[in-house]
Amino acid sequence: MVKPIVIAEGTPEERWREWPEPARWPELPLTDAGTPLIVAPHPDDEILGVAGLMATLGRAELVAVTDGEASHPGSTVHSQTDLARIRRAETDEALRRLGLGDDTVIHRPGQPDGKIDEEPLVELLTGLLSPGRWCLATWREDGHPDHEAVGRAAARACAATGAVLLEYPIWTWHWSTPGDTRVPWDRAWRVPLGQNARKAKRAAIEAFPSQIAPLGPAPADAAILPAHVLARFDRPYEVVFRPAVDGGPAAVRNKTDGPAQVRNGTAR
Ligand SMILES: [Zn+2]
Repeated sequence: MVKPIVIAEGTPEERWREWPEPARWPELPLTDAGTPLIVAPHPDDEILGVAGLMATLGRAELVAVTDGEASHPGSTVHSQTDLARIRRAETDEALRRLGLGDDTVIHRPGQPDGKIDEEPLVELLTGLLSPGRWCLATWREDGHPDHEAVGRAAARACAATGAVLLEYPIWTWHWSTPGDTRVPWDRAWRVPLGQNARKAKRAAIEAFPSQIAPLGPAPADAAILPAHVLARFDRPYEVVFRPAVDGGPAAVRNKTDGPAQVRNGTAR
């Protein structure tokens, strides 16, 4: 289902901050993270969603599915070819600012922005994943067709390989509201961020001037990520949805919060 992303301002960050529920979500233990495979529909999604996780681990492998060339249709400043080149470079710089080494692997299948084709993506991800490996992808119901295609493709690749699927919401924070029944809050896990990780994430977001600032004065060149949207990605934690394991999420979460038992979940 496509959700109304373009609803003016979306839910203000103050409303999210007042919501007590996230403080009760379990912490995601990073002991089994290895080098996670991060899947981003557009350059910057990986940063908004899980930059803090990447900075904390100091390693990641990225699949940048599109180059994000369709962010400004009708731009009077940049062609789509320009935008693709600019946004690829912005991703490279953002990863550097997270402290990820020059040897960080980035896959760029160059799929069309706005029209991600799920089948070849499933094939690519299946070739990169293995049993127990973490795969972080945008949530299957995040409300943007590309984000949802990436989530579905990742879910299929994880099911085929035994990799661990963790889905991160991006536009969900915009169209949903605290307690919204369309969102699987009962499968939410938090990744707490230390000061250094938060600082690195802020710096990485600043590496995307093509998205956070206007390209020019024309309406078609407006910022894609204005300040009130960015505010949602400056929290002291990140959130991932973890699909239910056998017995349902309650079976995992109602026991203890100890890492051993989460490892059991991971092994499934
Ligand atoms: Zn996106």
